[in-house]
This record gives sequence, structure tokens and C-alpha cells, in this order.
Amino acid sequence: MEFNIETLVRENIKKMTAYSSARHEFTGAASIYLDANENSFGSPLPANYNRYPDPLQLTLKEKISQIKGIPVQNIFTGNGSDEAIDLLFRIFCEPGKDNVIIFPPTYGMYEVCAEMNDIKVKKVPLLEDFQLDLEGIEQAIDSNTKLIFVCSPNNPTGNSISRSDIEILLNNFDGLVIIDEAYINYAKQKTFIPELTEYPNLVILQTLSKAWGLAGLRLGMAFAGLPVISYMNKVKYPYNINTATQQLAIEALSNISSVNNWTKTTVEQREWLAEELGKLPFTQKIYPSDANFLLVKMTAAKLIYTYLTEKGIIVRDRSNVLLCNDCLRITIGTPDENNQLIERLKEYTA
Ligand SMILES: *Cc1c(COP(=O)(O)O)cnc(C)c1O
Repeated sequence: MEFNIETLVRENIKKMTAYSSARHEFTGAASIYLDANENSFGSPLPANYNRYPDPLQLTLKEKISQIKGIPVQNIFTGNGSDEAIDLLFRIFCEPGKDNVIIFPPTYGMYEVCAEMNDIKVKKVPLLEDFQLDLEGIEQAIDSNTKLIFVCSPNNPTGNSISRSDIEILLNNFDGLVIIDEAYINYAKQKTFIPELTEYPNLVILQTLSKAWGLAGLRLGMAFAGLPVISYMNKVKYPYNINTATQQLAIEALSNISSVNNWTKTTVEQREWLAEELGKLPFTQKIYPSDANFLLVKMTAAKLIYTYLTEKGIIVRDRSNVLLCNDCLRITIGTPDENNQLIERLKEYTA
């Protein structure tokens, strides 16, 4: 198998000329900026919000580069991971012709983005143990398969996908393998970041929305080889990350210690919650989790979901999802929140 980005990218994307913004054409420092039709008087806000933001977010990427140990040129930052997912469809998948492969049950945005872009989704369900069906995948791949999405740790099942199985995909598929590591901070399994130099077809997604506690900021990251990142930069909106998000993300990325403490506590609480949930008479199964949530099989999950809602506790009802019959997905909260959840569940009588 030979990876060749030029045979993978859509013709219109190869041919198009990227938008060139004022801030793109001149990148040095000057004292008077009359090039971008901004309001030179200032802004009603204290910071430099009258100016357009850095289109390539270089200061932010330098910070990410230090933390993740990846060169700046291999980093894309987007309006959540969702922007990166959507861009990959728009760059690589020809509407009405190409297809992608996903492994349900998994994160919903892969399919939503595919439908939005008129791209066929081939579904190869996970096996009973929530691992990859390699034979099924081999059969599903055809000459128009461009992307394979691997969510690891997987949402909503919580488990990590076998590393050697992912390596088999990376070694044998000549399209892109996208590993969504949104929950990697909570996992025993290590990130695939060190493998980036080895696999030109690898794209890794991470986000500030989970362990970093910044879902409201909307900052997602994609790590990949330079050819892939260059196309993402070509196709993205010119100013996809606003000034406030860039500044706040830089600030947040300097506060690693509280994030590490939360992550540690979350993992401890996950084990505690699993143990307590296991004592309840209606709990049938607690699936092993490498994430900040637990997938729990319960008799009459829907009734329990409704009961908890009435008590002001909202969990995610996944009971209609493939392989997740009678399952609730419960996010790990603070120790106090987890305790309240268990107390309410102890009071539940069918
Ligand atoms: C929560 C989540 C994300 C995060 O998406 P953002 O757009 O970065 O907030 C990405 N992938 C998976 C699998 C998730 O569960």
C-alpha cells in the first residue's frame, strides 16, 4: 500500500486558490495598519479585538507544540474537533462518490458530517467486546474509501481500541486513518502522537473540551503530516479561531497542574463509581472505561433514566444505540455529585 496525498485529495480542492487575508499577506510588525479595513480607533472591549486574529494561530500552536512534543507545522487548530472532522470530509471525499468507514457504536459527528457532505458511510459494527472487526473492515474497504474513523477511547463504550489492530489499519489502508483521542487523558493506553512520523496517513484528533475543562471555548486540535495539515489550512475559514479563544487557550495551557489533578481524581472516581454501581440490584454490567464516563447496563435503563431526571440528575440514555441495549452513559462528576447519584439510585424502587 502506498500513501499518496495527491491521489486522495479532491480535484477542486487541489485546483482552488485559498483566500488570502490581509493578515496573511503581511505578517511582520508595523506601527500603522491600514490594510484590513478594521476600526483603527479601537473596540468597546479592552483587548485588541478591533484587529483580526492570527489566521494560523502560531503563538497558540507553539504552546501546544511544547506540551505535545509535535512541531508547529504538524498542528491544526479548529473550532472544536468537529471543524477538523468536517474539513477532512471536504478535502478528501467527493460527494456522491466516495465513502468512509466508521465503527458503531461511536461518536455521532462522523456520520452527521458525512451526511452533510453527501458522503456514503460504511458501518462495520464493533464486535461484542467493542473491538474492531478487522475482517469486516477489509471487506468494506473499496477504491473509493477515503477515511476510516477510529475513536479511542471510544464514545459511548469507553474502551480503548487495541493498539495493534489500529496499527494493522495504518499499515494496510492507503486512505487516512483518523484516531479520535478526545478522552486520551483518562486512558491507560498511550497516544499515537509518537507514530505520526511513521505514518503519513495518520490523523490524530484531540480537544480542550474534555480533560482540559474548556468545552465552552471550542478548541479542537488535529495532528498530522505536513501535506494533510497544509490542505486543512487551505480549506478552513481564514479566521477560524477568534482572538478571545486564542488568548484564553494560551492562558489555559499554562495551567497544567489543576488539569492533571482533575484527571487523576476523575480516574479515581471512575473506579469508585464503578464499584458502587456494581452493588445496585438493577446493575447488569459495567463496561471497563478508559474515559471520563461509564457505560452501564441496567434492567429497565429507560425507567432509571426518567427517575434520575425527576431527581434533577441527567445522564445519557444510550439504550437505543447498537450494542448498547439497556445502557446509560454516565459522566464522572465531582465526588459530591457522584455520591448524590449513588444515593438517589439506592433509593430507586421499580
Ligand atoms: C466530546 C468529543 C469530542 C469533542 O468535540 P469538540 O468539538 O472538540 O468539543 C470529539 N470526539 C469525541 C469522540 C467526543 O466524545
